[in-house]
Amino acid sequence: MTTAGAPKEREPLLVVNGLGAGYGGMPALRNVSLEVRRAEIVALVGSNGAGKTTLLRALSRVIPCTGTISFNNDDLVAKTPDEAFATGLVQVPEGRQLFDRMTVADNLLMGAYRRRDRAAVANDLDRMYTLFPRLGERRTQLAGSMSGGEQQMCAMARGLMARPQLLMIDEMSLGLAPVVVEQLMDVLVEIRKQDVTVLLVEQDIHLALSLADRGYVMDTGSIARSGAAKDLIDDPAVREAYLGLA
Ligand code: ATP
Repeated sequence: MTTAGAPKEREPLLVVNGLGAGYGGMPALRNVSLEVRRAEIVALVGSNGAGKTTLLRALSRVIPCTGTISFNNDDLVAKTPDEAFATGLVQVPEGRQLFDRMTVADNLLMGAYRRRDRAAVANDLDRMYTLFPRLGERRTQLAGSMSGGEQQMCAMARGLMARPQLLMIDEMSLGLAPVVVEQLMDVLVEIRKQDVTVLLVEQDIHLALSLADRGYVMDTGSIARSGAAKDLIDDPAVREAYLGLA
C-alpha cells in the first residue's frame, strides 16, 4: 500500500507539539504532539468526545490553541483559517457541510474558489469525475438530493479541488454502508499515490488502522498511544479498550 518509500524516510509535513485547546475554559486537548509525513495516511482515532474534531479545528485555526503547529515549515498558529487553508491544509468536515441547493459541479468549484488557474481547475474537475465516477454521472444534480455516500464523495472531491497538501477528513465512514466505505478507502489509496497526504479521523478504529500507515489513539484530550497502524491493531491494550477484542 505504501508508494512513496517507507513512512520513516519521508519528510514531515505537519509537526504538532504540546497543543492545547478548550471551550470556555474547559480543556478539550492537552499536550497533543503528532507528526504527519508527506504522502502518508495517518489515522487519528478514539471514542466519542476524545477530542479528535477539536484537534482538527485547532489545526485549521478555527479555534484558539497553545503549543506549536508547523506545516510545510510554516508556523500555523499565527495564521487565520483562510491563511491556513491557503497553505494547503484542507478539512473535509464531519457531516460534509455541502451547499445542498447547489449542483455537484458547483460544490466542487467552491473548493477551488481561491484558485486563479482556470484551465487547471477544469482539468481537476475532470480528474474528480474520474476518481468518483458517481459524481461525474450526477454533476448537475443538487448536492442535497444525493445519498449519504455520494455526499461524502462530493465533500472529499470539493476538498481535493483546493489542491491540498494535507486533506483532513473527519468521520468519513459515519453512517455509510460498508460497500461505499470501501470505495472511499480505495480513493484515499489512489490520492495518496498522487502525493496527497491524508489525516483520517475516525470513530471506526479498525477501519482507519487497517488503511493507515501510522495511527494516533486519542483519549480524553490526549494522545494515549501512537505507532505503526499494524502495531496498534495488534496492541493488546488497543484491542481490548477500543476494538472490543481480547
Ligand atoms: P466525536 O467523534 O463524538 O465528534 P471527538 O473525538 O471529535 O468526538 P470533540 O468533538 O473534539 O471529540 O469533543 C471533545 C470535547 O470537547 C468533548 O468533551 C466535547 O463535549 C467538547 N466540545 C466539543 N465542541 C464543543 C463546543 N463547541 N463547545 C463546548 N464543548 C465542546
